Amino acid sequence: MTTYVHQSTEQSSSQPPSYMQATEKLGYISEATTPMPPLYPLPSIQPIYGQVLHMVPMVILGDMPVSCNCGNCHASIITRTERTAGILTWLICGGLALFGCWLGCCLIPFCIGELQDTQHFCPNCAALIGTHKRM
Ligand SMILES: [Zn+2]
Repeated sequence: MTTYVHQSTEQSSSQPPSYMQATEKLGYISEATTPMPPLYPLPSIQPIYGQVLHMVPMVILGDMPVSCNCGNCHASIITRTERTAGILTWLICGGLALFGCWLGCCLIPFCIGELQDTQHFCPNCAALIGTHKRM
């Protein structure tokens, strides 16, 4: 014999439909009232080890070819450099042209490698490793 006990638990929660008109003023606690921290030495910034990034290591690119790992073919290479006209080259060119050296003399910076940017390429896959910019 199973007797179903139907518990009619009608909770007579007669909530009033009207909203609470009185807004609760909870004494607005501002977050800026934190007490001054005690004077303790700041934790020294420790280098985080363990994060091994399988990416191209940051190689300081200069004018000369550098040895690094290519990010494209992942080979240990020595970069092949090419000089290209950069911002500094054009600035000097414009400066020479302003000072009257516009009869071909303003093209001198394009012939001076030290005034140009240096692009580093991978000799294996010819991928651009990076660019050493003068400016
Ligand atoms: Zn490569």
